[in-house]
Parts: sequence; structure tokens; C-alpha cells
Amino acid sequence: MRSIESAGGGTRDTSRTRECYRCDRDVAPQLLFRVDVQSPDHLSEKYADSVRYCCEHCAAAMNLSDFSDRWKAHAKRE
Ligand SMILES: [Zn+2]
Repeated sequence: MRSIESAGGGTRDTSRTRECYRCDRDVAPQLLFRVDVQSPDHLSEKYADSVRYCCEHCAAAMNLSDFSDRWKAHAKRE
């Protein structure tokens, strides 16, 4: 008989730390930026679509992150 351990264990993966793809720092998954990379049609024969995970520092360094309105409002308050 087959075990059914895979039923319901599908999201277990998210509890493990991941490495930032840029700086190799181990980061908790809830603190990682997910970057979906989609190649343009004209280059799709050469490049595959992919997903990268990077830490907030690298996201900021690459200008990928943008502050939420809530955060901006908080920063402006004096
Ligand atoms: Zn990083």
C-alpha cells in the first residue's frame, strides 16, 4: 500500500529558509521578494521563464522594491 503522506503536505516547503539568489544569504521565506522573470516572446526560445527569490536588501539595491503607501505615510509623520 502506498502512503498518503503527500496529501496536505504540499505547502511544507515554505517553512524552510531560502537563499537569496544574489547574495546567498539565508532568509526566512516570509521575508523574501519573489521575482517572476518572463522572457519576451522574441527571446523565449533562448530564455526560459523563471522565478527568483531575493532578500529585501538586494531588492532595494536593484530598485525592485517600492514602499507601500502605508509605510510612506508613516515615514512622513512627524
Ligand atoms: Zn540578497
